[in-house]
This record gives sequence, C-alpha cells and structure tokens, in this order.
Amino acid sequence: MSLKMIVTVKQVPDTHNIVGDAMKPDGTVNRAVLPTIFNPEDLNALEEALSIKETVGGSITVITMGPPKAVEVLKESLYRGADDVVLISDRKFAGADTLATSYALKCAIEKLGDYDLVLCGRQAIDGDTAQVGPQIAEKLGINQITGLVSVLAASKKSITIKRQVDDGFEIVRSKYPLLVTVNSTANEPRSPRAKRVMAYKNIDRKFCDESYVESYLGTDGAQPSPSILSHIREWNVESIGADALQCGLSGSPTKVKKVQNIVLTTSDVKQVPNTDVGISEFMRELMDEHIIG
Ligand SMILES: Cc1cc2nc3c(=O)[nH]c(=O)nc-3n(C[C@H](O)[C@H](O)[C@H](O)COP(=O)(O)OP(=O)(O)OC[C@H]3O[C@@H](n4cnc5c(N)ncnc54)[C@H](O)[C@@H]3O)c2cc1C
Repeated sequence: MSLKMIVTVKQVPDTHNIVGDAMKPDGTVNRAVLPTIFNPEDLNALEEALSIKETVGGSITVITMGPPKAVEVLKESLYRGADDVVLISDRKFAGADTLATSYALKCAIEKLGDYDLVLCGRQAIDGDTAQVGPQIAEKLGINQITGLVSVLAASKKSITIKRQVDDGFEIVRSKYPLLVTVNSTANEPRSPRAKRVMAYKNIDRKFCDESYVESYLGTDGAQPSPSILSHIREWNVESIGADALQCGLSGSPTKVKKVQNIVLTTSDVKQVPNTDVGISEFMRELMDEHIIG
C-alpha cells in the first residue's frame, strides 16, 4: 500500500502589496486590484507532504478551489514536486464562506477516491479564519490534528505529530485517514525544481466532465501516477457530485456587512524598573494578558 496524500492550496491576494480598494462595496474582496500569491502556509503543507513522501513513499495530489487563474498555484505545486493537481472551478462556487468552501473541497476529496492523509495550511491570509481544514475533516468524518509543527515519525499506517497548542506543544499519534493543518514554523518550503518548471510551464487546464473523470480514474477508482501530466484536470459542481445549493453564495450563511480599517494606537507609557524583579513582573503581566505565550 502506498500513502495517498492530498494537499489543499489556495491562491490568495498578497495582503502586503495592496493597490487600490481591496474591498468592494458589497463586502466581497476586489480580487482584480490585488496581486495574487500561493497562500504561505499551504506551501508549508505541500513541503510537509513532500518530506513524508521522501521517507515513506506515496503520491501527492494538490487541489484548489478558485477561479481559472488559480491554476497558477497548481503549476507552482507541480514545479515543487506534486504528482497530480486538480482545479475545482465554477461560477457557482463564487462567494463561498468557509462552510461552502469546505463542502466543495470535501466533495472533491471524495471524488479522488481512497486517501490516507489530507494536509491543509493552518490558515489562509485573506479570510484568516483557520476553519476550512477542521471543517473538511468534520465533513469527511475523519480524525484531525491541527497546528502541525513537526512530524516525529511517519509510516504507511500511522503518523506521530508535534502540534502547537496555546501554552506549549502536544505529541499526538493517529492512524489514517487523517487531516492535518500545518503551521508556518513547520519547515522551509523548497524552491521549484528547474526540470519540473521546464516540464510543466506550458501545461494547461482541461475541463473534465463526469465520463472523463471515470475514464481517468479507471473503474476501480485507482489514481494514475503519471510521471508527466498532459494537462490539469478541472472539475465543476457537477463533476464533484456537489449540491449547487450548498456551494458558493447560496451555501454561505456568512454575510460580511462592513470592513473597517483599525489603527491601533496607545496613549499609555509603562516604565519598567531595570531590575530582575521589575523585568520578571513585567513578563508575568504580558503572559497573563496573553500578549506573549
Ligand atoms: C473580510 C472577510 C471576512 C470574512 N469573514 C468570514 C467569516 O466570518 N466566516 C466565514 O465563513 N467566511 C468568511 N469570509 C470568507 C472566507 O474568507 C472564505 O470562505 C475563504 O474562501 C475560506 O476561508 P479562509 O480564507 O478563512 O480559509 P482558512 O480556513 O483560513 O484556510 C485554511 C486552509 O484551508 C485550505 N483552503 C481554504 N480555502 C481553500 C480553497 N479555496 N481551495 C483550496 N484550499 C483552501 C487551505 O489549505 C488553507 O490554508 C470572509 C472573507 C472576507 C474577505
């Protein structure tokens, strides 16, 4: 048995380089004025999957739900070592909150067939909720370990993970199937490989209808493991067997009423005595107020 891993990745606006109005009057993101990047913690999730593959073996499929342009993060995943990638794209997915996003990703994961380990970034830098990973696990009905900071041991049957919690770390072992969310401190993502860039730079997406999905997967649902993919599969609401009413805006109870810029200011100055006692009392105060952990 070889380990089947799925990594969820999101293309996000580069929140450090905003030009123009980032939000539309209706409270949705004005993606047209924002440069896009690979969500940083999803790079950590992909790197973790690549390291596990190097020690245990197996395959990595990367999926993203987004507009056609999101194919860029899939190509980037191929450059870094992913075996297979799938774009989930449909106008019906537009305006999804975390509930609708996790529903669509759950349907796509089930469509992929058997899997052992799903890896997500801990958090996306645009929505910032850190809810999608845990919601996918809940909907798939599988175990989840959030906040992975390192993998202590991995085999084809189970994995032991060090995870960050509020006041320290926990070591948790789980059998598969399992979903983990990965913190930015877990690893240093590798760079794209030049040979893979050459192999995949011109790869294009291709819409796959239901019959195509079946012929691609084969009757036993087995995933092919092509050394060079000929195209990037694109699925829509129907291809992943999703209920359109649970997707996009219609499946999203969240409504963003208003977005406000808040500039934090301080009027107080605190003098800390330059003594051991003064400094340790100040440190205690910062910890009590959860300013430092
Ligand atoms: C200002 C603002 C406020 C919002 N407030 C809310 C709110 O209160 N409640 C709410 O439900 N939604 C809210 N949203 C919408 C929310 O950002 C989207 O649902 C978003 O697509 C998913 O949530 P997230 O970005 O917080 O993901 P997170 O939960 O932070 O993402 C965690 C991980 O899930 C995976 N993932 C997330 N999205 C995708 C994707 N499209 N494709 C593949 N993998 C993915 C990635 O691995 C990612 O690292 C808000 C959006 C904005 C702009």
